Amino acid sequence: MQVEKARELGLCYGVRRAVDMVRDASLQHNSLQTLGPLAHNRTLLMELAAKGVTAVDSPDALSGPVVVVSAHGIAPDAMQLLVQRGIDVIDTTCPIVARAQQAVAAMAHEELTIVIFGDASHSEVRGLLGWAGSRGIATQDVASLREQHGSFPGARVGVVSQTTQRVEDFSSFAQEATAMVLREGKEIRVVNTLCDATRRRQEAAADLAHRVEAMVVIGGRNSANTQRLSETCAAIVETHLVETADEIDESLLRGKARVGLTAGASTPDSSIDSVERRLRQI
Ligand code: SF4
Repeated sequence: MQVEKARELGLCYGVRRAVDMVRDASLQHNSLQTLGPLAHNRTLLMELAAKGVTAVDSPDALSGPVVVVSAHGIAPDAMQLLVQRGIDVIDTTCPIVARAQQAVAAMAHEELTIVIFGDASHSEVRGLLGWAGSRGIATQDVASLREQHGSFPGARVGVVSQTTQRVEDFSSFAQEATAMVLREGKEIRVVNTLCDATRRRQEAAADLAHRVEAMVVIGGRNSANTQRLSETCAAIVETHLVETADEIDESLLRGKARVGLTAGASTPDSSIDSVERRLRQI
């Protein structure tokens, strides 16, 4: 079986930067706690746990004087609470997420109603909602907004995206929202907050998916960008999402001569190497 890797895959700039910052900090602290998981990947979290880095769900669960904020960022009031408690914050918020936070904050300041295209339960989106104050709504379904509110909410509307959404999906969402808002005689502003690293990984995965008989996507099943990669590939060719090499047995790819490999933005190099080795053994 021939195995080809996508031209861009695995750890993105933002997660690599966060991991490097935490590894450096772990040299000075016997144990470190992150507010929520540093990334949505079990292998990466296990590697960090071996260095004494563990996750807590809320500031109340912190047991030390230092906390790490993940690349997904947090709401400004949550950050203020940590500072007020005298906790030393290692802020690894990805600069691209920080840029989205600033776009949301600026529109909230101008009193726009801010619609965030994304998963309301995802930590990045929860953070963005915090930056919107009381003016934010997170959804992936434009039509439901009008059904719930009777008309499109707000007289002046701002639209942004969770950074890891697919460009095609955000584009459709923004076009539909724009048509609705303009029909109601209101104002709309769309700010492109998508992450370019995510878009490049999706494009590289799609290019490769057209040239192979099956794709293997490596990453956490709870990782938003890994799910988008998997959806992108599955629309083109048979696709298998795996978290570790152990999930690959010969029956999974029986009869396939050319297999493509890609990985989510929080997938460590060690996972990619072990899956690639396993595929080459088949
Ligand atoms: S996927 Fe993009 S926005 Fe998210 S951490 Fe990586 S570089 Fe930053």
